[in-house]
Amino acid sequence: MAIGITLLGTGSPLPDPLRAGPSTLVQAGGANLLVDAGRGVLMRLAAAGLGPGQITAVLITHLHSDHLTDLNDVITTRWITSFPATPLIILGPPGTANVVDHLMAMLSADISYRIHHHDDLTDPPVVHVTECVAGMKFEFDEVTVSIDETDHRPVEPSIGFRIDHEGAGVVLAGDTIPCEGLDRLCSGADALVHTAIRADIVATIPMQRMQDILDYHSSVEQAAQTAQRCGVGTLILTHYVPAFAPGEGQDWRDLAATEFTGRIEVGDDLHHVTVTAAQP
Ligand SMILES: [Zn+2]
Ligand SMILES: [Zn+2]
Repeated sequence: MAIGITLLGTGSPLPDPLRAGPSTLVQAGGANLLVDAGRGVLMRLAAAGLGPGQITAVLITHLHSDHLTDLNDVITTRWITSFPATPLIILGPPGTANVVDHLMAMLSADISYRIHHHDDLTDPPVVHVTECVAGMKFEFDEVTVSIDETDHRPVEPSIGFRIDHEGAGVVLAGDTIPCEGLDRLCSGADALVHTAIRADIVATIPMQRMQDILDYHSSVEQAAQTAQRCGVGTLILTHYVPAFAPGEGQDWRDLAATEFTGRIEVGDDLHHVTVTAAQP
């Protein structure tokens, strides 16, 4: 059966008028899984035809702000636009509960205003956070979510997700360099969604802040090597640094194709890819 993947936000920490922050929607069975919640996530989710009340779970790969800066918007807007509001399930690495606790504290004035103003809003938003480590598995609406560790050091812990549904499997790597945990997730997967940077371009930017990103992200070639090594059918690149103009990106595809012989997908926000199980 098919798994739908929508790149909600293909941007990076750098503000871009045309690219929202990192976030990917994975739809399988009856589940709508939101992987990371970067800048503008609910605008792009609306463009994909979904509201925050329809999110089955939010999966956070790591606690870098660009990957979760709009998580508070997901919490608040789900709460005030669902009747009744249902608990928001969040899976993330250890440390996620602390972040969410502080988001709730940040939102406390807003929560108080709304409860006092709306007679039918009597309780604050309910958020269920599960901090995940390698080997954990979760079931949502005929979908299995598996966890393994990734390597984004010194940002740690960081985790990747594999989403399996009726024989099809998609891996969400997040930000990571090649590592055994990611290879384990990718083994036998049909698609890999991987953040990537153009190391060949970034290396030429004479700014230390940019040079610093080289050692903890995969280059396009490294992401492609991971896909090739693990026999993944489709490589979907996102989180483009530096971003390319809308409709462009052929140079990214060409670079990935030097290391990977499968299908390569690169695109703009809302780029949609359907993945089906490989024939046995
Ligand atoms: Zn990161
Ligand atoms: Zn990132």
